Amino acid sequence: MDTKKKKMASRRDVIRKMFQGAGFLGMGGFAWGAYIDKAKAGELILRPPGAIEKDDFLKACIKCGACVEACPYDTLILAEPGDNKPVGTPYFEPRIIPCEMCPDIPCVPVCPSGALNEESVTSFDEKENKNILDINKAKMGVAVIDEKSCVAFWGIQCDLCYRACPIMDEAISLKYERNERTGKHAFLKPVINKDVCTGCGLCEHACVTERAAIRILPIEIATGKVGDHYIKGWDKKDENRLKKVEDDEQKEDKNNSGTSDKAMDYLNGDWQEIID
Ligand code: SF4
Ligand code: SF4
Repeated sequence: MDTKKKKMASRRDVIRKMFQGAGFLGMGGFAWGAYIDKAKAGELILRPPGAIEKDDFLKACIKCGACVEACPYDTLILAEPGDNKPVGTPYFEPRIIPCEMCPDIPCVPVCPSGALNEESVTSFDEKENKNILDINKAKMGVAVIDEKSCVAFWGIQCDLCYRACPIMDEAISLKYERNERTGKHAFLKPVINKDVCTGCGLCEHACVTERAAIRILPIEIATGKVGDHYIKGWDKKDENRLKKVEDDEQKEDKNNSGTSDKAMDYLNGDWQEIID
């Protein structure tokens, strides 16, 4: 174990003992916690960085294990019979070994099948004037907090997940809130920025509670989908879409008014004939 990991483990042990002494553990644990307990293991698979969309991944991956071999931290595992996951495909369990977010992402370029897509973890480096691998672009999953069992939400000082995060203050920040009931104490609550979180799971690994109060879930499970027909009228990015909807509505009104004019003419014509 390297020094950083040793420090983290001992800090986690100290806080855990403190809570055990105070009889805190064993409480809480619903909301996300209850969902995760009920969900089948197969639904909660976390894939290596750069993994393409779920169904395409299963078709593309040839189960060669090259990504697993390339991972220097033994994060990645190939599913075996009985794991309740597609056998031979790579996955990881952050509570056991999280992804250490290697800057050179050795697991991705070795993939021969395209199941791990290098482009999705690449960005343009202005200094070097070329594309480089960028682990911060990975979307292995997203962290969610079970507020009922996160002790920071009880007012206890614990910032292990915040400190463990390699994109500190961006992917996880701490929000200060006054405890209105006591007037003396404050909360420092962890807040996830889903757009920045890579799903590496270092936070889940560091969490002090008996079962982690912060967990990494696959993105399609942790996030909703609004649907393309919703438009944020106040958002600059949606301005063109809003304009198109308004134009379409105007066109439709025009067509409808043309139709109703014709209908009027027709009816008027009929009546005219009867009167005549
Ligand atoms: S980025 Fe590094 S630690 Fe994470 S899965 Fe790939 S090789 Fe393993
Ligand atoms: S290297 Fe690619 S094809 Fe091979 S097991 Fe990993 S994801 Fe599948």
